[in-house]
Amino acid sequence: MSGRLAVVGLGPGDARYLTEEARLALDEADALYGYGPYLDRVPEHPGQSRHASDNREELGRAAAALDHAASGVRVALVSGGDPGVFAMAAAVCEAIDTGPAAWRGLDLAVVPGVTAMLAVAARAGAPLGHDFCAISLSDNLKPWAIIERRLAAAAEAGFVIALYNPVSKARPTQLGVAFAILLRHLPPSTPVIFGRAVGRDGERIAVVNLARAAHEPADMATLIIVGSAMTRVVARPNRPPLVYTPRAAAEVRG
Ligand code: SAH
Repeated sequence: MSGRLAVVGLGPGDARYLTEEARLALDEADALYGYGPYLDRVPEHPGQSRHASDNREELGRAAAALDHAASGVRVALVSGGDPGVFAMAAAVCEAIDTGPAAWRGLDLAVVPGVTAMLAVAARAGAPLGHDFCAISLSDNLKPWAIIERRLAAAAEAGFVIALYNPVSKARPTQLGVAFAILLRHLPPSTPVIFGRAVGRDGERIAVVNLARAAHEPADMATLIIVGSAMTRVVARPNRPPLVYTPRAAAEVRG
């Protein structure tokens, strides 16, 4: 039997969001690797070993999973959402890029999942209906100055912006700074969607405007979508508002 590593996206929440491909990759695995809370979402299989790790040790976790796969085992390494979006797939590619030559010969599969941005957008309507981008506000792997520049450039260019990792215990104030930067480039009425724990217990969706956004609660389980100047909110009787970005953009003048 030859080794295999599947980097598997679990989607944003419970088992409803798992694709058939992901379910198969998990069922077939002899060993499961991943951050503890993600592993807890995967149903137990007899004979399958589990290797939970800390969320911050991504490269170490990737190397351990690759080593195990190289020994001839079928390994699944799990990520929440999509494994390619601020998650394990890039860490695995990085490890293969810089690691032992044997890792390049491994059967590697990246199995996509529904990323948080898409799950939150779907709850609100169609805020990503026109051009958009995603920015992680975590400065663990990049300087904060880059984040500030990208926020300004993205807002100025008219992108709807999905903000991953909006706050952490170590970064209680940066989200407020981010909204202040965005307010320099966008109207105060710009719709902002807060989606917390989407697809899981305690899901919460809130729509506010950019001027109010800094007062809205957010934590590490929250994904924020900041509209563009084109994004619209449609009020509905006895239903939450619909937020969408029209498919067509007008010519930019000036
Ligand atoms: N690979 C993941 C993202 C990892 S970064 C994905 O594709 O979704 C972690 C960030 O993702 C969190 O700080 C939060 O911003 C967002 N996130 C992950 N799951 C979420 C969920 N169920 N609801 C809202 N945001 C979520």
